[in-house]
Amino acid sequence: MKAILTDTTKCIGCRECVVACKKTYDLERDVPRRWGTDDGLSARNWTSIIEKPDGKFIRKQCRHCIEPACVSSCPVGALKKTAEGPVIYDSKRCLGCRYCMMACPYGIPRYDWDQPVPYVRKCIMCYERLLDGGQPACTEACPTEATIFGDRKELLAEAHRRIKENPDKYINKVWGEHEIGGTQVLYISDIDLSCLTYGRPLDDKPLPSRTTAAMHAVPYAFVGMGSAMAGLSWFIGRRMKLQGNSESDTKDEGNE
Ligand code: SF4
Ligand code: SF4
Ligand code: SF4
Repeated sequence: MKAILTDTTKCIGCRECVVACKKTYDLERDVPRRWGTDDGLSARNWTSIIEKPDGKFIRKQCRHCIEPACVSSCPVGALKKTAEGPVIYDSKRCLGCRYCMMACPYGIPRYDWDQPVPYVRKCIMCYERLLDGGQPACTEACPTEATIFGDRKELLAEAHRRIKENPDKYINKVWGEHEIGGTQVLYISDIDLSCLTYGRPLDDKPLPSRTTAAMHAVPYAFVGMGSAMAGLSWFIGRRMKLQGNSESDTKDEGNE
């Protein structure tokens, strides 16, 4: 499976990776918000650079967990783990419940508040580019190879090789190797990266076994399986209708 290795000691904070991502997905300029988080991620920024007070930089993005809590918490299968590695998103299925946002241990998915029909947005590891034999736009753009793309096993070996050869430079840990069953975005660093975790420290046990039951129990406990599914069906139908209206409005505007 494919993966990304980010070595924070090589990052110069140039943000070429951020720009490449925004260009690839035609993401608009971000809108500052009072309730925004300070990690720079948003529906319009799928990757960001966190600048630490000591002048160090950490690139943040979806970790593409091997057993993703976002996927297991989604009641309609809008998020999917692919065989190649990326966790991708189908906006046509999404009903906007935001369970994925609550379930993600890294605080990654963001809500598209500015749209008439808001969706959840996050990095999809440039899945289409991967299918075409390419690499993610961000890794391709990085001028210092601080963030590189490749086979997960090979990147893990490379990460351990760098740590072994430079024991005074790196903390002896590959972030993403084991936590919550492992992730496909790996990190090595000379500073502690626990700031990338949202909430409590993570153990090595995958989250889906814990999140699925908790997330799905809420609606079913109150309304029962039948009425819950009827409600979901109504929401999806309404959402698709709104999306259709929104798209035809956009086309009409474009034709004016
Ligand atoms: S980091 Fe969060 S959004 Fe990304 S795959 Fe893991 S659980 Fe899903
Ligand atoms: S992998 Fe693609 S979608 Fe994800 S941050 Fe990089 S450029 Fe953006
Ligand atoms: S392009 Fe590379 S060096 Fe520049 S901010 Fe991104 S990860 Fe760091």
